[in-house]
Amino acid sequence: MSKERFEELRSQLDEVNLEILEVLNRRAELVSEIGLLKSGKGTERFDPIREKEMLDKLIPANKGPFPDDTIRHLFKQIFQASLGLLEEEKKSLLISRKNQSQDTIVQVGPLAIGGGDPVIISGPCSVESAGQMEAVASHLKNEGIMLLRGGAYKPRTSPYDFQGLGKEGLKILSETAKRHGMVCVSEIVAPEDVEMACEYLDVIQIGARNMQNFELLKAAGSVRKPILLKRGLSATIEELLYAAEYIASRGNDQIILCERGIRTYEKATRNTLDISAVPILKQESHLPVVVDIAHSTGRKDIILPIAKAAIAVGADGLIVETHNEPAVALSDAKQQLDLPQFSTLMNQLRQSGFLKDAVQ
Ligand code: PEP
Ligand code: MN
Repeated sequence: MSKERFEELRSQLDEVNLEILEVLNRRAELVSEIGLLKSGKGTERFDPIREKEMLDKLIPANKGPFPDDTIRHLFKQIFQASLGLLEEEKKSLLISRKNQSQDTIVQVGPLAIGGGDPVIISGPCSVESAGQMEAVASHLKNEGIMLLRGGAYKPRTSPYDFQGLGKEGLKILSETAKRHGMVCVSEIVAPEDVEMACEYLDVIQIGARNMQNFELLKAAGSVRKPILLKRGLSATIEELLYAAEYIASRGNDQIILCERGIRTYEKATRNTLDISAVPILKQESHLPVVVDIAHSTGRKDIILPIAKAAIAVGADGLIVETHNEPAVALSDAKQQLDLPQFSTLMNQLRQSGFLKDAVQ
């Protein structure tokens, strides 16, 4: 065979490869459209009878040189790949980056969370009294903090521990925040309280222990308030994302994800802060991600490097617990910063360029 003929055959082969590629992708597009119609009807996507029908038409049409078995094998591979394509599409959740490339910005009053400078969410673990909230809020506002936290429904390990002030706590939090021109966030634990809470709160928190309370997630998806969704104590990143999808699937796309540490064998910290979850969540999803540096570590002495680490890996905000008298706090006494400690932390973060100098 002449060299010219060899080169010509090769270039023909390259062309045929490109034709096959085009035809394969045209087929994939048709499969996707059929898959969409099927998903609307709840029909199973894998359809062995339809596969057999297609092969029954193909085999008699085969003129070779490939034997029938090879054709059967090749088309089975194509069918398989098509199913894989549909599975991939199914994975492209509403909250996924695949669906939306730009960052979601959750606007809470004057505060934009996501895609910009990190925000600070602070306040006591529990709302204990109007006086306590006033003392904390006025200090935080002076530091430029806009988003005030405080638990009113406390999911405590022991039933004998302080359970929170309930609706009265929400009222105190809300009134305090309003008085200072701040916005507020608090945890809701029962689906039936979600609507009521909208009256008092600017952000509804779903806590770690309730991350997979699916009825609560559905209730949170049905209101038009931003939701702060915390990662479960032993939840994987995927489970957190699916929990967020529960909320988004009901029409509420204003979701802030929160890494708050997970259960491991390590006892030096209250939980193990999964710092790698932050860039992974931001890669997988367009939602903002904040890091709770209080509950993840349970320690005040390492709060500065942990805060820096969280911001360095791209956190859109930090949750820091603060109390006017941590020693007598009714919950999480050990991890709450007192007010001067909070100011020191803010100054250190500002001086080292981790936070903007100006008030938020
Ligand atoms: C909280 O933020 O008040 C809280 C209880 O945190 P977590 O759900 O992360 O334990
Ligand atoms: Mn707490």
